[in-house]
Amino acid sequence: MNESAKPTKIENDVVVVMDYSLTVDGEVVDSSKENGPIAFLQGHGNIIAGLERALEGLKIGDSKKVTVSPADGYGEMDPESFVDVPRAEFPAEIPLEIGTEIQVAMDDGSEDIAIISDIKSDSIQLDFNHPLAGKTLHFEVTITDLREATEEELEHGHAHDDMDDWDEDFDDEDVDDEDEDDDDDEDDEEESK
Ligand code: ZN
Repeated sequence: MNESAKPTKIENDVVVVMDYSLTVDGEVVDSSKENGPIAFLQGHGNIIAGLERALEGLKIGDSKKVTVSPADGYGEMDPESFVDVPRAEFPAEIPLEIGTEIQVAMDDGSEDIAIISDIKSDSIQLDFNHPLAGKTLHFEVTITDLREATEEELEHGHAHDDMDDWDEDFDDEDVDDEDEDDDDDEDDEEESK
C-alpha cells in the first residue's frame, strides 16, 4: 500500500493492537500475558461493546482501566438458558459432576457449550449461559499499536493479525477465489513478461 498516515487515535475502522487483562470477581481470567496481545478492528463489534466504546480516542501507549457492566459485557444471566435434560437422554460417558463443561449438538447442527449446573433425580440441568454472563468485567488495557485496516479487513469486518479462525465464516468465498485463480492465467502471463 502507499504511504498513508498512521492513525493517531482509536476510531472506527482502525486496527488496534493492545495488551489486556480481564479480572472477574478478583481473579484474572484472561490476559495477553498468556495469549499475546489482541488485534481487532474498532467499530465492528470484534470485542464486547462496553470495552470498544471506552477505547474510543485512545492513543498508542495509553493505558486505561475499564469496568464493563454485564449488560455491556456478556449479558445478564438468562433463566431460560437453564435446560433440564432427562437422565435417559444424557450420554452415559459424561461424568455427572456439577461444573463439568460439555459440548452439546444443537438442533440446527451447531455446537454449544453448556455447564452441568444441577443433578436431579430424573434429569440433569444444563446452563447455557456464557460463563461470564452476569459478571462485571474489569479490564486493564494498554494500546501497543494502531494501523489502518486493509480493504479486505474492512470487507470482512475484522483484523487479520492473529484471528485466522475468524475467516471460517468466509470459507465459501475463499474456495471461490481459489477456483478463479486456477482458471485465470492472465496474472501469471503478465508477471512473466
Ligand atoms: Zn477475514
